[in-house]
Amino acid sequence: MKYWLSIVVATPAHSSVAGALTYRSEWPLAPGCLVRVPLGRREVLGVVWETLPDSGGLAENQVKDVLGALDGLAPLSDTWRRLVAFTASYYQRSIGEVALAALPPQLREMSALQLTRRLKRPAATEALPPQSDIDLIALSAEQTRALAEFDADQRPALLFGATGSGKTEVYLRAAAQALASDASAQVLVMVPEINLTPQLQARFEARFAHLGKAQVVAMHSGLTPAQRLKSWLAAHAGQARLVLGTRMAIFASLPNLRLIVVDEEHDPSYKQQEGARYSARDLAVYRAMLESAAKDGHARGQFSDGPPLGKLAPSGGSALREATSVGAMSCRVLLGSATPSLESWQATVTGRYQRLTMHERIGGVAQAGSLPAVRLVDMNHQPKHATIAPPLLDAIAQRIARGEQSLIFLNRRGYAPVLACHDCGWKSECPHCSAYRVFHKIDRTLRCHHCGFTERVPRACPSCGNIDIAPVGKGTERLEEHITELLAGVRGPGGEPLRIARIDADTTRLKGALEAQLASVHAGEVDVLVGTQMIAKGHDFRHITLVAAINPDSALFSSDFRAPERLFGLLMQAAGRAGRDANHGEASEMWVQTFHPQHPLFAALKKHDYPAFATQELKEREAAGMSPFGFSALVRAEAREQAVAQGFLNAAAAAAQAQQLPGHDAVTPYPAVPMTIQRVANIERAQMLVESPSRAALQRFLAAWQPLLHQTRQQGEFKSLIRWAIDVDPLAI
Ligand code: ADP
Ligand code: ZN
Ligand code: ZN
Repeated sequence: MKYWLSIVVATPAHSSVAGALTYRSEWPLAPGCLVRVPLGRREVLGVVWETLPDSGGLAENQVKDVLGALDGLAPLSDTWRRLVAFTASYYQRSIGEVALAALPPQLREMSALQLTRRLKRPAATEALPPQSDIDLIALSAEQTRALAEFDADQRPALLFGATGSGKTEVYLRAAAQALASDASAQVLVMVPEINLTPQLQARFEARFAHLGKAQVVAMHSGLTPAQRLKSWLAAHAGQARLVLGTRMAIFASLPNLRLIVVDEEHDPSYKQQEGARYSARDLAVYRAMLESAAKDGHARGQFSDGPPLGKLAPSGGSALREATSVGAMSCRVLLGSATPSLESWQATVTGRYQRLTMHERIGGVAQAGSLPAVRLVDMNHQPKHATIAPPLLDAIAQRIARGEQSLIFLNRRGYAPVLACHDCGWKSECPHCSAYRVFHKIDRTLRCHHCGFTERVPRACPSCGNIDIAPVGKGTERLEEHITELLAGVRGPGGEPLRIARIDADTTRLKGALEAQLASVHAGEVDVLVGTQMIAKGHDFRHITLVAAINPDSALFSSDFRAPERLFGLLMQAAGRAGRDANHGEASEMWVQTFHPQHPLFAALKKHDYPAFATQELKEREAAGMSPFGFSALVRAEAREQAVAQGFLNAAAAAAQAQQLPGHDAVTPYPAVPMTIQRVANIERAQMLVESPSRAALQRFLAAWQPLLHQTRQQGEFKSLIRWAIDVDPLAI
């Protein structure tokens, strides 16, 4: 007996093979089975995608045999394959690439025998008594209401909760409830890259300790390959009841998934930046719907504009985030943020998503009382060239004298962004990039933050020999030095000398360094903490009563339409760092130095009014037809010469125009332009923006355009193109 199978394997990004190949097997294999198959001279892991009635017209000797099946594993579910197929289609990649990248790397290398041995290791299942209700903190009124509303609804939910309002407790309770719904129920909790700390994992482990020891597993890129395999296998087998992970975890095999939580749903780290550039947040919404459809036996028709399984390049419009569901949802999705993405916020305005609101900080009084007062410093009225305005400096000095902590952030690491010669105008450009190298004083180097090229600082100007080359502008290293000088005479309440610390990518390079530095801030061993936006996010500082943003203006006038959204989120989060300690709540302040104090963004910030900001920003986006009112994709190209990169994009767009591709009448491709940082490591980069008011039209167009892009690349004049890629729903333009 012979069985014909369509099997997906990892194919290089833009190979002509779309990712599924026909193989023959002597025994039947169900879709979703993992198999070892020959590919060229190699033996690789594949996933059985579909069973085929025959060889599809291929001659016997053209079809290779399956070498073996990893039959210790249950096949991957239909839902998992649908999720992968949708991702591949929506983000314009091959199914094989997405499917194989979604599996743990070690599994890709294993033989059936090795896997069998691996699976024989017993899993620990010692159960502890459930945490009793007495151990649990009493919910706040807002937490109780949010959970009740979540229960009473079926839609994707957005938990809009101020920093410190207790969102994590809501996630924990929702998870506990989902897990209690049946003995095999599973929950996926996603967090941004930087938030997945051992402490957070410990908190979830402690809460769910009664389920058994293997109950909570982590999935993120910091794990060893062996740990990743272990987590993956536990989730796939249903042993792991709760998976805590970063964006990659959205593809975990979870046979009985009942809830997906996406914490800090606005965080850009949910968007993958290479290969299939998926948004794990958006896929979470889609996956919850797929899981529910599978379990509740919803009619397939409901997802009729999703991609049919097995079709490698479906041309239908895709339903990502537009899909809503009717009927009971056995898998829910809960997004949470204090400053949601404008896409998710708008979905709550139209009613596609449910909005759950928690205004108040735990232990706080009314909102205005517990959040720090925002003070705008008009830098137009401060001494010229002052890095820190005198009133801000005074305020910091007062905190030190009272034994309180201050946090000062500046989004630029290093000592100075440029080193320059005032005689001849030489600047510390990177020879390989269209960017300046940053001066790092600590080791007296000039470092390129784009390609890494590092040299010792020259003794004299390389161009004219002048020995007075000087730093221009300030990074965190210089800010730290500057503050140390300015506050030299200030003493703590008991006359102690001032303690200043800096946290940025340079001071936290070593493993464990960040934890150690944060611990010393927590322990009160630091009076003034200087850093990049790293310190504004996520960390729970209890004794900080002053937060200051030194120079946030550039985002106000950025060419990237999402820059104001990111700035507002960052400033709100930074404000949330101040006064989390109820005892200090009233005295805490957030200072913002700006040359544009009249900007409406700051008016909303002063009132801690995210809805006001969102309303005003959404109005502008609507007028301009930008996300979430319009849809876009970027095609990026890289070559040794800028003209080749741009030429390739323009030629491919011209071909699309000439052939009147599906969807073209609703899609606008703009001329190719150099990227903001045009050259990195001697490679020229260009991009083309493609916009449409219709997601479906854009999807149809991109699917039809792919083959044309491949063809265009084959033309002689573009042979030297290094690579190109499509980014659907790009975060930054
Ligand atoms: P968020 O994620 O919304 O910023 P957290 O979940 O970190 O807020 O909660 C802030 C603090 O309040 C945490 O220390 C948490 O343990 C505590 N907390 C949360 N809910 C309650 C509650 N119902 N009663 C007492 N403390 C709570
Ligand atoms: Zn010079
Ligand atoms: Zn460089």
